[in-house]
Amino acid sequence: MPNIVVVGAGVSGITTAYLLSKQKGNVITVVAKHMPGDYDIEYASPWAGANVLPMATEKHSSWERRTWPEIKRLATEVPEAGIHLLKSRVYRREKDIEKLRKGGYSFDGLFEENPWYKTLFDDFRELPKDELPKGMASGCEFGSACINVMVYLPWLLGKCRANGVVFRRGQVKHISEAASLSHAGGKADVVINTTGLSASKLGGVLDKKLVPVRGQLVVVRNEAPYMLTKSGTDDADDELCYIMMRAAGGGTILGGTYQKGSWESQPDPNMAMRIMRRAVEMMPELTNGKGVEGLDIIRHGVGLRPYREGGVRIEKEKIGDTWVVHNYGHAGWGYQGSYGCAEDAVGLVNEILSRSRL
Ligand code: FAD
Repeated sequence: MPNIVVVGAGVSGITTAYLLSKQKGNVITVVAKHMPGDYDIEYASPWAGANVLPMATEKHSSWERRTWPEIKRLATEVPEAGIHLLKSRVYRREKDIEKLRKGGYSFDGLFEENPWYKTLFDDFRELPKDELPKGMASGCEFGSACINVMVYLPWLLGKCRANGVVFRRGQVKHISEAASLSHAGGKADVVINTTGLSASKLGGVLDKKLVPVRGQLVVVRNEAPYMLTKSGTDDADDELCYIMMRAAGGGTILGGTYQKGSWESQPDPNMAMRIMRRAVEMMPELTNGKGVEGLDIIRHGVGLRPYREGGVRIEKEKIGDTWVVHNYGHAGWGYQGSYGCAEDAVGLVNEILSRSRL
């Protein structure tokens, strides 16, 4: 029976373990330093909004395209997964239009005019001029989803356990150490590396293409009637304005920042003020017109998006005598691409297993 050890219990690790657990016969152990329920700067998954705002360009859209139907199904058919559908508005500012047209923008496809994802959502529409806030050149609206990650990750972990996956706390210094950590004993046939940003420091991997993209946010109790994001802010090039309301009482996330190369784990109070001001300016309904003082704060937070120059790494590699499948470097789209990426990682595991059986 194939013996598989997954290192990492963020959305990438748990989704990969779950898809592997649906295949009969796999013996799966997940080993991780951080588990759902933890908040830590080394653990990106609890900090995500997490909503679905396609970010890939059309060429790299396959992971997000393949994930959306599953997220939509969970939102409509599986209430215990903690996902709901909510309209989302994407605004392209007049000030950013030239920059957006030149390309090379941080969010790649999200702010494109005539985006590929207009066919992904049944109800996608371009906004008429009279529905645009001041200063916006154009914008679109579609029925997106928002995941309450505090409900979703434990739910997915539970689905894995129901299929026999065993979860263990542990930290490996070198990826090949994980091969000896299977709960079933013996040497694992395959190790899956879903260590996110920490793959930059993990022995045997030491991926220098990984860069943190710092995201500061404020979680509030106020409810948002819809979600929104815009292509830039007047405050700084690496500051953002987005609002997303999590399902099932998970609070509303006010974002944010997109600070490439910053490892700073502590929230900056001035930045927090700017985040809140921008949010209430864009959506006065959040506080019934009472401004920032009407916000009811649950917490301030910082997460580091695991950005990788050149894109996500989903590859197989033999390290010493251990087969490793990598699935890390999902930047700001780890949830909305989770099923597509995990499917590809499972495909690589299957290639390795049929090869080693020859
Ligand atoms: P992580 O969640 O970082 O998990 C890594 C795991 O590996 C952890 O369990 C860790 O303990 C373990 N680990 C690492 N090293 C070791 C080791 N040596 N030994 C043992 N275990 C180890 N995505 C969306 O889709 N939509 C959004 O709206 C969205 N918003 C975001 C907002 C912010 C502010 C941030 C920070 C991210 C956002 N993201 C969003 C991105 C998303 O959160 C990440 O892409 C995703 O969480 C990455 O998951 P991961 O499992 O790859 O890594």
